[in-house]
Amino acid sequence: MDALKGLPEATVIRDPSDLEAYLRDESHVRGVLPLAAVKPHGPAALRELVRRAKAEGFGLVPRGAGTGKAGGCVPTARSVVVDFSAWPGELRVSPQDLCLHAPASTLLRDVKAAAAAHGLFYPPDPNSWESCALGGTLATNAGGPNACKYGMTRHWVLAVDALLEDGEVHTFGIPSVKANAGPNLAQLLVGSEGIFGFIVGATLRLTPAPREFTTLLLPARRWSDLLDLPGRLFAAGFLPSAFEFFDPAVLAELRAHGPEEARRLPGEALAILEFDERGCTSDAFLEALLDLLGPLADGLEVAADERQRQALWGVRRLTSAFLKERHPRKVSEDIVVPRSRLAEFFEGLERLGLPAVTYGHLGDGNLHVNLLAAGETDPAEVEGQVLALFRLAVSLGGTLSGEHGIGLAKREAFLALTDPAQLRALRALKQALDPCNIFNPGKVI
Ligand SMILES: Cc1cc2nc3c(=O)[nH]c(=O)nc-3n(C[C@H](O)[C@H](O)[C@H](O)COP(=O)(O)OP(=O)(O)OC[C@H]3O[C@@H](n4cnc5c(N)ncnc54)[C@H](O)[C@@H]3O)c2cc1C
Repeated sequence: MDALKGLPEATVIRDPSDLEAYLRDESHVRGVLPLAAVKPHGPAALRELVRRAKAEGFGLVPRGAGTGKAGGCVPTARSVVVDFSAWPGELRVSPQDLCLHAPASTLLRDVKAAAAAHGLFYPPDPNSWESCALGGTLATNAGGPNACKYGMTRHWVLAVDALLEDGEVHTFGIPSVKANAGPNLAQLLVGSEGIFGFIVGATLRLTPAPREFTTLLLPARRWSDLLDLPGRLFAAGFLPSAFEFFDPAVLAELRAHGPEEARRLPGEALAILEFDERGCTSDAFLEALLDLLGPLADGLEVAADERQRQALWGVRRLTSAFLKERHPRKVSEDIVVPRSRLAEFFEGLERLGLPAVTYGHLGDGNLHVNLLAAGETDPAEVEGQVLALFRLAVSLGGTLSGEHGIGLAKREAFLALTDPAQLRALRALKQALDPCNIFNPGKVI
C-alpha cells in the first residue's frame, strides 16, 4: 500500500499471509483483510499515520494483544491495523504517589508484577491477565473476578496518554485521586474501544497488596441455592474479592471432557469464593461465614495454602479456553443483571429455552452465557437467540455487556437496545473527537 511508504518509526506488514493473524480476536467475529498492519515504534509513526489516514480515507484499527471478545480489534473495510505490541516506554512505579505509569504495550501481568514487587496491588484481573495488554484493558475497561470488590479498570485509572485526531499525544489526568478541574476526559477514553483515539500509556492507581486470603470451593447440591448467595453475603456485610460460578451444564462439560483437574469437581453447580481483607483467615471470620452459608457449607473446601488456592483458580482460569477449544465456533456473551435478580434471570433463560451454558462472575451479576452450538446453527437463529438473551438482561435492569464491550460483535444489538439519547450523545462525541472517522470505524456506534 503506497500510502504507507516511508512511514517513520514503524514496522509495516503487507504480506497477506502475515495479515491473516489480524483477522480475529477471541470472539466469533472475523474481520476483512486489512490494507496493512503497522507496528509503531514511536509517536512520529502515529502522527504520520493519522495524517495519511485522513488524506487517503482509510481507517485505523488499534490492537493490543488481540484477546478481546467483542471483535473490537478486527479490521473493517479499508483499514490499517495499528498493532501496539512494539510501542516503547518504561514502566515506572511511584510508591509515594501509590501509582505507576506504563506504556500501552505492557502486558497486564507485568503491570501487576511491578506493583507486587513494591508490596502494592493493581486489582483489575481479566482472566486473560497473563496475555492481554494494558492498552487493550483500558480501551475495553476490562473487568474480571476482582471487580466484585475492587471495581473495573476505570476505577484504577488516574491519567491516560492518548493520541487524538490532531496526531499529538495528550495526557488527561494527573497522578492523584483528586483532580476535578473539569469533566474527566481520561475516563471518557477508558472503555471507548479505540473509537476516539489511541491510548499510548496510562497512570494507574495502586493500593497496598492484600496479605491474607480465604479461598473456598463451594459445591451446591441444588444450583438454585447459589443464586441468592451474592445478595445474602453483601447484605450481611461480607465483601468477597471474587465470587465465581459454574452452572450445572458447564460443570458437566468440564467433568466429562475437561482436563484432569476439572474431572473431580463436585456439586450440581459450583462457586469459588475469595476474601482478602485483614482478618479473613481468622476463626471468627470463618465461623460467621459458615453461619451464613448454612447447609451450603456442606462439602465446602477451603484452600489451605497458596498452592491449593492457585489450584482452585486454575480450574476457573482454564474454563474459557477449554470451551473455546472444544467449541471453536461458540458464541460467548457477557450480560449483566443486578445481583438481586439473578434467580429471575435464570428462570427467564429457562423459559427462553436457549441452548446455553453459563459461568462467570456471579458476585457482580456478570454472566458469561455461551451458545456452544452456534457454529452449527443457522446464523439468523443464533442472532435471534442472542437478541432474546440481551432483551432478558435489559428487562431485569441489566445490560448486554459487563466487561467485553460492544466492538463489532454486539454493535447491531447495542444500536437496537440503547436509549436513542445516549446514542445521539455518543455520535456527537465521536464527531467532535474524530471528525474524519478514522479511529476504529464501524465499531460500537
Ligand atoms: C481466556 C480469556 C479470558 C478473558 N477474561 C476476561 C475477563 O475476565 N474480563 C474481561 O474484561 N475480559 C476478559 N477477556 C477479554 C479480553 O482479554 C479483555 O477485553 C482485554 O482487556 C483485551 O486486551 P487486549 O490487549 O487483548 O485488547 P485487544 O483485543 O487487542 O483490543 C480490545 C479493544 O481495545 C482496542 N484497543 C486495543 N489497544 C488499544 C489502544 N492502545 N488504544 C486504543 N484502543 C485500543 C481495540 O481496538 C479493541 O476495540 C478474556 C479473554 C480471554 C481470551
